Amino acid sequence: MTEPLLRVKDLVKHFPITGGLLTREVERVHAVDGVTFDIAAGETLGLVGESGCGKSTTGRCILRLIEPTSGEVWFNGRSLTALDRHGLRQVRRDMQIIFQDPYASLNPRMTVGAIVGEALVIHDLAKNAREFDDRVAHLLETVGLHPEHMRRYPHEFSGGQRQRIGIARALAVSPKLIVCDEPVSALDVSIQAQVINLLEDLQEKFNLTYLFIAHDLSVVEHISTRVAVMYLGRIVEVAPARELYTAPKHPYTEALLSAVPIPDPDVARKRIVLEGDVPNPTRPPSGCHFHTRCPRAEQRCSREAPLLREISPGRLSACHFST
Ligand code: SF4
Repeated sequence: MTEPLLRVKDLVKHFPITGGLLTREVERVHAVDGVTFDIAAGETLGLVGESGCGKSTTGRCILRLIEPTSGEVWFNGRSLTALDRHGLRQVRRDMQIIFQDPYASLNPRMTVGAIVGEALVIHDLAKNAREFDDRVAHLLETVGLHPEHMRRYPHEFSGGQRQRIGIARALAVSPKLIVCDEPVSALDVSIQAQVINLLEDLQEKFNLTYLFIAHDLSVVEHISTRVAVMYLGRIVEVAPARELYTAPKHPYTEALLSAVPIPDPDVARKRIVLEGDVPNPTRPPSGCHFHTRCPRAEQRCSREAPLLREISPGRLSACHFST
């Protein structure tokens, strides 16, 4: 088997909450609680779960935009967790991020050209102003914008166009991996498909690898090679996309999938409504984190945390009863 492009092992991120006169740690938010997965070159792994399940924190820890509490991340066979600032700067060229909010992620005081070309300056990739302009113009065209847009400011663009600017910025340094952190969640449904189609086209053209984070299974259905489902800081299921959508194995995936509308009126899917809210991540439930809401929970579930285990080739589930 070939070495994966990205390997994440036992990744943990806890955020301490301090309080009292001595500002001592009083609690910990268990945002990411032992996450393990691989992504092969050219693949898209969809990472899905409700808000607050730790998926965006996972993406940021991989890029070391947030320092993980523990765990290992390897990129192209190289450990990222051990890198110093200089080493990290070199690797950052190969790993980029597209943020969720195209309104907040672009500096309103910078022109589009300066935003898209910022990384060219940081990494010294344009010899002079003319080459800089040429490269920025080409990047804008690549994402479906016009070269003359480089002299305008972000507020002059729609949400979809702003997200294209964010994509052009990520492409500027010819990355291998892009963490797409809910890139279409803030966009109108009609625009979402255009941006996803663009990301698919770019993947083919530049042989990109994506970690595609979303809170909705329907968003990642077509773009993902495989899908990993997260609940309260842990991955509960991983499967090739088609298999996960046609035959989910974990009760949480079943519930998420039951909320996805099916365009064919002749196909009915029974809606599974989960009881209660997602528990507080400062005090996650014992055993299986999902046991307080799981329609199939048994006594064992509150005592024993299920391992994420392979139940058939390429399919993993963290449920005691998955077969
Ligand atoms: Fe539900 Fe128990 Fe399976 Fe957890 S281990 S998903 S609580 S049945």
